[in-house]
Amino acid sequence: MNCLFCKIASHEIPSQIVYEDDDVVAFNDINPVAPHHILIIPREHISTLNDLKEEHKAMTGHILLTAQKLAKELDIAETGYRVVFNCNRGAGQAVFHIHLHLIGGRSLTWPPG
Ligand code: 5GP
Ligand code: ZN
Repeated sequence: MNCLFCKIASHEIPSQIVYEDDDVVAFNDINPVAPHHILIIPREHISTLNDLKEEHKAMTGHILLTAQKLAKELDIAETGYRVVFNCNRGAGQAVFHIHLHLIGGRSLTWPPG
């Protein structure tokens, strides 16, 4: 599978990994949009949110709880942070292996662009 994020998950391509376990990997975004910008991915290759199935329920919950844990560790849990899945090109998805953006460390405006 010629997928950038599969290669990051397997350490074939180096990245700044901040957390990993059997199911998920979290690493710093190479082009951060805020002081804290982490991507949390499943080790399993899933192209977009549209490809999620019942069997992925536990993994998607695990990704969200990983975001919560990292936000607490970064001390942005109380001040505020944002989590985003972009789905498909019209929403800005550029890498087709699902990833949750965890963004924080500055005030964030709403709505996003
Ligand atoms: P998307 O636009 O698909 O929601 O987000 C893809 C994200 O992956 C972007 O924020 C981009 O900066 C990040 N990214 C792209 N290539 C790399 C890379 O090689 N390493 C890391 N750490 N992040 C990457
Ligand atoms: Zn992949």
